[in-house]
Amino acid sequence: RKYVYDFTEGNKDLKDLLGGKGANLAEMTNLGLPVPPGFTISTEACQAYLATGSRPAGLAEEITAHLGALEEAMGRRLGDPDDPLLVSVRSGAKFSMPGMMETVLNVGLNDTSVAGLARQAGGNQRFAWDSYRRLIQMFGKTVCDVPGEEFEHALEECKRARGTTDDLDLDADDLRALVGTYKKIFVKHTGREFPQQPLEQLELAINAVFESWNAERAVLYRRQERIPADLGTAVNVCSMVFGNLGPDSGTGVAFTRDPASGAQGIYGDYLANAQGEDVVAGIRNTVPLQQLEELNKPAYDELLAIMARLEEHYRDLCDIEFTIERGKLWMLQTRVGKRTAAAAFVIAAQLVDEGLIDLDEALHRVNGDQLAQLMFPRFKLSDDLRPVAQGIGASPGAAVGKVVFEGQRAVELANAGEAVILVRRETNPDDLPGMIAARGILTSRGGKTSHAAVVARGMGKTCVCGADALDVNVRDRNFTVAGQTVEEGDVVSIDGTTGRIYLGEVPVWPSEVVRYFEGELDPERADDPLVTAVHRIMSHADAQRRLGIRANADTGEDAARARRFGAEGIGLCRTEHMFLGDRRELVERLILAATDTDREAALAELLPLQRADFAEIFRAMDGQPVTVRLIDPPLHEFLPSLEELAVHVAVAHERGEDAARDEQLLSAVRRMHEQNPMLGLRGVRLGLVIPGLFAMQVRAIVEAAVECARAGGSPKPEIMVPLVGAVQELETVRTEAEKIIAEVTREQAVEVLIGTMIEVPRAALTAGQIAEAAEFFSFGTNDLTQMAWGFSRDDVEGAFFWRYLELGIFGISPFESIDADGVGRLVRIASEEGRAARPGLKLGVCGEHGGDPESVHFFHSVGLDYVSCSPFRVPVARLEAGRAVI
Ligand code: ADP
Ligand code: MG
Ligand code: MG
Repeated sequence: RKYVYDFTEGNKDLKDLLGGKGANLAEMTNLGLPVPPGFTISTEACQAYLATGSRPAGLAEEITAHLGALEEAMGRRLGDPDDPLLVSVRSGAKFSMPGMMETVLNVGLNDTSVAGLARQAGGNQRFAWDSYRRLIQMFGKTVCDVPGEEFEHALEECKRARGTTDDLDLDADDLRALVGTYKKIFVKHTGREFPQQPLEQLELAINAVFESWNAERAVLYRRQERIPADLGTAVNVCSMVFGNLGPDSGTGVAFTRDPASGAQGIYGDYLANAQGEDVVAGIRNTVPLQQLEELNKPAYDELLAIMARLEEHYRDLCDIEFTIERGKLWMLQTRVGKRTAAAAFVIAAQLVDEGLIDLDEALHRVNGDQLAQLMFPRFKLSDDLRPVAQGIGASPGAAVGKVVFEGQRAVELANAGEAVILVRRETNPDDLPGMIAARGILTSRGGKTSHAAVVARGMGKTCVCGADALDVNVRDRNFTVAGQTVEEGDVVSIDGTTGRIYLGEVPVWPSEVVRYFEGELDPERADDPLVTAVHRIMSHADAQRRLGIRANADTGEDAARARRFGAEGIGLCRTEHMFLGDRRELVERLILAATDTDREAALAELLPLQRADFAEIFRAMDGQPVTVRLIDPPLHEFLPSLEELAVHVAVAHERGEDAARDEQLLSAVRRMHEQNPMLGLRGVRLGLVIPGLFAMQVRAIVEAAVECARAGGSPKPEIMVPLVGAVQELETVRTEAEKIIAEVTREQAVEVLIGTMIEVPRAALTAGQIAEAAEFFSFGTNDLTQMAWGFSRDDVEGAFFWRYLELGIFGISPFESIDADGVGRLVRIASEEGRAARPGLKLGVCGEHGGDPESVHFFHSVGLDYVSCSPFRVPVARLEAGRAVI
């Protein structure tokens, strides 16, 4: 087995084997770009090393051979006392990963080769000693775990003694002395001398990179980002080039376009007379890359030409690291660069215009999560606005409000009409009411899978978690950050997308993308490249997708909005709200009805009200199907709570008032109490137990449809029966419904479909039978998930999901993304058996999964006809349905 690859042997598609950095160094080498020669030790070598604790057989020999070839090519030997070859040892996994070992530069320097290096550099002693002290610092810190501050303090001390704050004011003698100090620090912490053997330095550095794969931070990061734990990292050994040789040398980073907006232009930073990470470390002020043009025109021109070449080659935005050694440009890294959601759309559209990619590829390069991000309002940022701290963006949105520290206070203030941000160290199930009341949630501990993060995402509430710079004192009702104390009632602004936290009120901007979907911005005329890009890519997604997209909407207003957002019908119109408000009283009469006449009277009063509701919805969705679900929740949910009633009755008795009605209600509530309402008298069961209830709803639906048709519309009602588990349930409802339909449509024909939800596992497993009585199925994946797993969403998300996520039992909450193996299998079985029994059976999904990107791909693959989701998610579903095809 081969473990080591020269840069000339790899290419960009070998990221699994060579890591991202190694694969791209090889790609650039083979493009003929100026990359310092070197080689990559594969991830397989790392895997073998980690499995056994020692280097696999043959690895040492391969390294020796490749090092020999490198020395040959460079005409220098590693650490040679007179004319040393120096190398950098760089980690590089398939995915870039914070927490991994950092790079060690200048490997090969020691007490004698430092003199050789100075001679190489034309007697530049300062440069040689600067390079040596950097080696001891980086090697000590990253290979031997010497606390980095010790070196930094020593450097500060040295500068103070010199009366300067600038590294560049230190001369060769200062740096030589600093090397002495560094070596003492090294001995103090490791109990040994700094290794003088170049080969030993190299070997230790390589092993340390291997081992850093399992560093605590790296493990944590992988778990959070769901990166498999067994990939391992590659190690790149790269001959050194020097940006710290004097003013004609330097180092920099650049993007081929603006990674924030996607705009074309020159984006980068340059630092003269510096090495490696000085640029990112912010030790000295960098200059904008444009200034390199004055400093070194030929190198600047070459750099721009290379950037254009890389973009054309990768057909995407690239970021790069480069170094200029005495006027000569060297490329040290490139990769397809990270970008904001907005830039992703803009760049994809630009690349289509430039002929580098086609629209399919553009569609492939953006995703629903990015689109969703662009649909949140965002903070209006100004130049002088600085975040006070940075946490993890756990649930997107821009929230502004008064800080509160206790759930109870959050509820009180929210009830008084205040916008509040609930701040906690971490949250637990007791905080739930406060979390519901708050505009946003901010915690100082925990990551993307913490209680706060999971629950906030479930509620669609803005959340920033793990802002560890915040010192939260719940008892004193304040937190401190960056030397400031923020008290209860002070205003903060939190950005759940970026994780940034601002003190005070930051103005919020509505999303332009939403304004575009609302039809307020003309994408052809807009001078906003983002809107144009979104429009083009969405249009392509619509042209490509096979899945239909509907919305879950209960009112005419929601239906109209859904339609503007691109919905092609309603997949779930709940009717619960048609029993609320002023109509509660009718529901109470219905429940308390002692005789058929009483009950029929109550239903008769509900009928015209519901008919008007349906007519409004049919008008808003004219010409498109509207699936109306008959009433689903247990009726006692429409009654006051037991406690409330008991108090009423007691107070009335006290005052000697008549409480007959409340007493009646109270006994009804007692009678109807259920241990587990989720599994109780609801859905189709209600329809079969309470005479006339479903019949009233069916009549209201069909009469509304007839009314609309008479007025020239073309309503397409679909009546959906909830919670069916057996075909006989559906047949009973169907027989009654068909009679009503026949009667109502006698004079004005309207086609009415009757179908069922598939949300009870038994329904999925007997779908072949149920299809005999159903013209369509709609998968209610919320209930199906609850019943397949045997847990109720409201009870478990806060109670133990964080633990399941932490343990990896869930990669993601099954309520966020469909559990393809379990719940998804039920969907698959029901689809296949349903269609086998009734070819052409219409299949859809109306759970919240209908708007989740991964789930949309799953439903596409199962062959559903449409997905239905909340109006706001409709664009996301359209986009992902298009992506599922290409
Ligand atoms: P990271 O992944 O943190 O960017 P790198 O391995 O890219 O780590 O290296 C850190 C810094 O050192 C970068 O600025 C890089 O350009 C620089 N560097 C790495 N190898 C060399 C080399 N052979 N010569 C000069 N600079 C180098
Ligand atoms: Mg790094
Ligand atoms: Mg780098």
